[in-house]
Amino acid sequence: MHKERLKSLPFLVFDHLNTHKELYHAVTTRAGGQSPAPHASLNLGINTDDSPLNIISNHITVSKALNFELSFLISSTQVHKDRILCISQKPEHKESKVPGVCYEGFDSILTAQKGITVMIRVADCVPIILYNPKKKVIAVTHAGWKGTLSEISIKTIHQMEKQFGCCPADIKAGIGPAIGKCCFSVTHEVAEKFTEKLEGSKYFVSQNKSSSYIDLKEANKTQMILSGLKVENIETSEICTSCRSDVFFSHRREKGRTGRFALLAGLHSS
Ligand SMILES: [Zn+2]
Repeated sequence: MHKERLKSLPFLVFDHLNTHKELYHAVTTRAGGQSPAPHASLNLGINTDDSPLNIISNHITVSKALNFELSFLISSTQVHKDRILCISQKPEHKESKVPGVCYEGFDSILTAQKGITVMIRVADCVPIILYNPKKKVIAVTHAGWKGTLSEISIKTIHQMEKQFGCCPADIKAGIGPAIGKCCFSVTHEVAEKFTEKLEGSKYFVSQNKSSSYIDLKEANKTQMILSGLKVENIETSEICTSCRSDVFFSHRREKGRTGRFALLAGLHSS
């Protein structure tokens, strides 16, 4: 990943996705918004106790910097499950308290529709983008430990295959900044759920007598490889959001009193 700046807003992009000119994408940071602490400053979390005016203003800032229409922004309340939303047409413009169009209860959004922007919001959970350049299909996914355990990456890739005929070998993936193994200690019970349910857990679960640690980014990467993605098509951010809570919101580091950053993506209309 590397850092870019548009209209003074800093954000990160995946190098291997940046080569596709029809696609735009970004991972925001906590810089460039107007929210005060503990949501300082670019809080995009719609269910945080930040002022709605700040949250709306921050969304406007992002849409202006990335040059997309806010009324065609699609997101969802996220519930740490595995439901996948497929958007097949541009939404009707409607008045809403939440910027753009917000659905309820989806942790993955899939589309081949041009002219809309899909977004997921995170603070430690793993933000994932999947893109098939041949079919021009995008998915954005929110994978916390529960979503990872329910194999949301595998299920999203499966939907790309089923609904759009995407071949997994053609899909490129970006795994964004999230809590790292360094900071994500879990109970032995949670670690055991991972080792019992998920294939390849030796790559992402480590346990000693006192603690268990899970590498959520690696767990999702493993799911992608098991689904048929090529290793060289997966780019993973090295950043741990908890170690770098100066740059990203971290739910665990900040004990829940924090904002959300976002992964956004869309296909240009022309
Ligand atoms: Zn860390």
